[in-house]
Amino acid sequence: MSGKRNLELYFHIPFCVRKCNYCDFLSFSGDEKTKASYMDALFREVREKAGNYTDYQVVSVFVGGGTPSVVSERDMAALLSTVRECFVLREDAEITIEVNPGTVTLEKLKEYRKAGFNRLSIGLQSADDGELRQIGRIHTYGQFLDTYGWALDAGFENINVDIMSALPGQSLASYVTTLKKLISLPKPPVHISAYSLILEEGTVLMDRYERGELVLPDEETDRAMYEETGRILEDHGYHRYEISNYALPGFACRHNVGYWTRTDYVGFGIGAASLVGEVRFRNDADLAGYLEDPSGREADREELTIEQQMEETMFLGLRLTAGVDRAAFQTRFKTTVEKVYGDVINANIRDGLLRYTDDGERLCLTEKGLSLSNYVMAQFIF
Ligand code: SF4
Repeated sequence: MSGKRNLELYFHIPFCVRKCNYCDFLSFSGDEKTKASYMDALFREVREKAGNYTDYQVVSVFVGGGTPSVVSERDMAALLSTVRECFVLREDAEITIEVNPGTVTLEKLKEYRKAGFNRLSIGLQSADDGELRQIGRIHTYGQFLDTYGWALDAGFENINVDIMSALPGQSLASYVTTLKKLISLPKPPVHISAYSLILEEGTVLMDRYERGELVLPDEETDRAMYEETGRILEDHGYHRYEISNYALPGFACRHNVGYWTRTDYVGFGIGAASLVGEVRFRNDADLAGYLEDPSGREADREELTIEQQMEETMFLGLRLTAGVDRAAFQTRFKTTVEKVYGDVINANIRDGLLRYTDDGERLCLTEKGLSLSNYVMAQFIF
């Protein structure tokens, strides 16, 4: 045992080929010069801030975006070298990079592997090219198949594929076809993230919706898609370990489980959020300012109150199907979860939305609670 505390690192790469129609993430297209300057700024930020974390060992690295794969593989390798140089990186650390079909080659993926990435997250969203066009993705299902095959050839075994439900024009049957195509691949992905589309302000899809030009699946179909996801994937050996995440045994995303169990993490790059000790802080989202002074601008910083820490422990912990560990809550807050949330817990147990595990050690959402998770979790906010 090293005696060091665990730390997760996140790197935000904001560049994409072009904006998808549903996207409200901090992402935009950028020319090669801007990308190179951004990566230089990122290396500088790591060097300037790493000294704050000498008591920590890094257990996971996640390079997300945006589309990290639009940046050169050389820069990605340099990013991991900088991390190794500046932090104690545990030998068995999970090191993920997000990629999109249409932005990688076999050679690029081999370079990622050589650099030390050991997990890949591929954005597919749908196996139906018409649905992909509707949501403005840059790729086809055929390009996904190429990417997936190259990822395996490059030696990646730990691969996540993102899919989406409730897309414009999507039927339950076409959604199920996407799922079935994925699990029928000669070597299916070990991890699948399946999120439902949420229309966000300021996106192309929201504009179309407001003009009455968008046909979306109704709520009942949306619910049926969620239920089918669980049923089909669980029949094929996947375990739903979080509301929208499914993994074969041993392949839950350690980085994301860390977020949900409130492991300390530090985000680098514009808009990146961090939680260290009980302090939440976030980098400013302004690109020009970041390129000038990558460590100098914070958008906000707040020390969490005990109430906020309890709220987060509950609504993040309940995202996991394993639920909230009652003993850990008690050790941490010197009171029981029932003393703080007794009324909420009892009401939700009565409504069939929450339950205790058989050994009584954990509190978790029921099957019904999983599909009404936002409603349940909101009740844990003071
Ligand atoms: S690839 Fe992802 S981050 Fe980029 S525009 Fe599309 S949804 Fe947004």
